[in-house]
Amino acid sequence: MNVFLVYWHNEPKSFNGAMFDTAQTALKSAGHEVRVSDLCAMRFDATSDRSNFVTVKDASFLKQQQEEMYAAEHNGFAPEIEAEIQKIEWCNLMIWQFPLWWFGLPGVMKGWVDRVFAMSRTYGGSRIYEKGFFRGKRAMLSLTTGGPEQSYQKGGFNGDMNGILRPIHRGILQFVGFDVLAPQIYYSPARQTDETRKAWLDAYAARLKRIEAESPIEVGEY
Ligand code: FAD
Repeated sequence: MNVFLVYWHNEPKSFNGAMFDTAQTALKSAGHEVRVSDLCAMRFDATSDRSNFVTVKDASFLKQQQEEMYAAEHNGFAPEIEAEIQKIEWCNLMIWQFPLWWFGLPGVMKGWVDRVFAMSRTYGGSRIYEKGFFRGKRAMLSLTTGGPEQSYQKGGFNGDMNGILRPIHRGILQFVGFDVLAPQIYYSPARQTDETRKAWLDAYAARLKRIEAESPIEVGEY
């Protein structure tokens, strides 16, 4: 299987960094091909503007989706955007590794989505959801939190984690055609013992070694 890991954390020695390293090792040892985008190391620019393109459809007014459609027809994506789109096209499984920030993706990772998930290459016309460009591919979120697990249950002070992740699961991944696997969530790693964190990394590696056999989840409406 071809696996594309997209990762952002501003500290390589973080627990997210350890999960990213663990994933690469586990997947390769299970015989999978792995490509990565370490967005912090790449200093990926989160600003979506004309730098997304080498072509120009309308120089007087920037309308991103119109420029994306034009770029898709004229091989007009900037090399750093084209490279990311090609990694998505290449993979069978895409994993996003990140710390939950403000109930969502950290800004750089959201900016990566804003720039890379371009109209006419990743969605467009009737090619969304079940007819999406990426039908047959699977995606998984792998994330950590500061808040404890019980705060992310229904009725907990943060509310149901499934509802918090829905905009990513439904609004991004399923929108472009991916099937979604159950998210890998480690709550409050900073409040655990070193032994617990090491056991979590082992459990994550064990899951990844068998991940090819997993079935997608239903994403509820909330
Ligand atoms: P770290 O603090 O880097 O790691 C925890 C511990 O693991 C450290 O002691 C580290 O040394 C250790 N570790 C690293 N590698 C290993 C290893 N190989 N083996 C064992 N231990 C290891 N939280 C929420 O719940 N909801 C929010 O909405 C939210 N919004 C935020 C917004 C911002 C702007 C910020 C800065 C934080 C926010 N947080 C939020 C908190 C954030 O989600 C957590 O701090 C983060 O997810 C914890 O993961 P980490 O990788 O940063 O942990």
